Amino acid sequence: MRNVIIIGSGPAGYTAAIYAARANLEPLLIASSVEAGGELMNTTEVENFPGFPEGIQGPELMAKMQEQAEKFGTEVLYDDVVSLDIDGPVKKVTLGSGKSFEGASLIYATGSAHRKLDVAGEEKLSGRGVSYCATCDGFFFREREIAVVGGGDSAIEEATFLTKFASKVYLIHRRDELRASKIMQQRAFDNPKIEFVWNSRVAEVLGEDAVTGVLVESTVDGSQRELPLQGVFVAIGNDPRTHLVHGKVDITDAGTIWVDGRSSHTSVPGVFAAGDVLDPTYRQAVTAAGSGTVAALDVEHYLAALNEAGAPESDASQIDSLAGADV
Ligand code: NAP
Repeated sequence: MRNVIIIGSGPAGYTAAIYAARANLEPLLIASSVEAGGELMNTTEVENFPGFPEGIQGPELMAKMQEQAEKFGTEVLYDDVVSLDIDGPVKKVTLGSGKSFEGASLIYATGSAHRKLDVAGEEKLSGRGVSYCATCDGFFFREREIAVVGGGDSAIEEATFLTKFASKVYLIHRRDELRASKIMQQRAFDNPKIEFVWNSRVAEVLGEDAVTGVLVESTVDGSQRELPLQGVFVAIGNDPRTHLVHGKVDITDAGTIWVDGRSSHTSVPGVFAAGDVLDPTYRQAVTAAGSGTVAALDVEHYLAALNEAGAPESDASQIDSLAGADV
């Protein structure tokens, strides 16, 4: 049986692995078979990760994190988790390949997925003018005209942030009032660079190799018009990837995994969460990495308490009696 199995290979998963490996826990990390490396694999230049003053490409940063985790003894498997059995003291992880592993603890760090518009042109022009992260890509739109889609706090925050770079920001929202908090709304209303396009949805993102505009459709009468611009930021919400643990751990109203205070303890003993799956607000590589650290340290304490109580690592029955212990 493994000391700890980490699911997820973004900054949270790899940072948890680095800490757990340095604590001699020999972690097993399950990276996805197709999405290994997480969100940063879709990002170009990362300029806000401390330690890289010249910036670093997202995939290179993830490769370095993986190298660091492996250097200290992390085993990385490129496979997809298809089911989890986490009720008891021994956590069982079953993979798409049919293999299964048992762990005395589990760190769940599967991140979140940006909601997509699901319209023509979006996929093709992703990374070529279509973005899901203003702080990552805003810099590339200096003096350009761009649009932000959405009406929540994320959209308003991104639109306001993007006015630092863009010459004009259209805020395209499907209704005629925003969901965002009043104070953020007011900030956007007061910003002369933001123009609101109410009661509208993006029906298509236009362009061949780069975004040249959007086809905007009225949600009131269905009329359409083209809006020429060079960038589209989609900010219509994020969905934490929690499907594997639904019904198994407590989930918050925001859809994230519930954790106890500032810790990574979920509602199930021995199961810890890190990164975007528990964070509805910040969602940065750095905060995810910090959250991975917390999870690894919590696991260390959890396992130490089990061992202190005399449970041999592989003795499931003894771990069972300790599973409810407050560690
Ligand atoms: P959100 O609050 O769920 O808002 C999503 C917005 O996108 C809504 O305005 C929604 O329209 C719109 N939308 C959803 N699906 C759409 C679709 N298919 N096509 C077009 N529009 C669509 O998500 P969020 O803004 O990412 O915020 C998530 C959470 O993080 C919230 O709790 C928020 O308060 C928090 N947050 C806080 C801050 C801050 O305080 N600084 C910053 C960012 C996020 P409708 O309004 O019509 O439903």
